[in-house]
Amino acid sequence: MFKLACGDVMPGCAARFENTDRDQLMNQVAAHAASAHGVNEVTPDVLRAVEAQVTFVA
Ligand SMILES: [Zn+2]
Repeated sequence: MFKLACGDVMPGCAARFENTDRDQLMNQVAAHAASAHGVNEVTPDVLRAVEAQVTFVA
């Protein structure tokens, strides 16, 4: 299971995501970032910051 705590990328945000599929997790995060944080464009820098916080728990 891939997991991400949004607060690790966006301090103060309590949203957490988990998905068995890493790409689907990133889609969930992108949708959340757009609606909750006004991040409408996932730049390479943003993508790296997010991916660095994704953890895998078997
Ligand atoms: Zn968030």
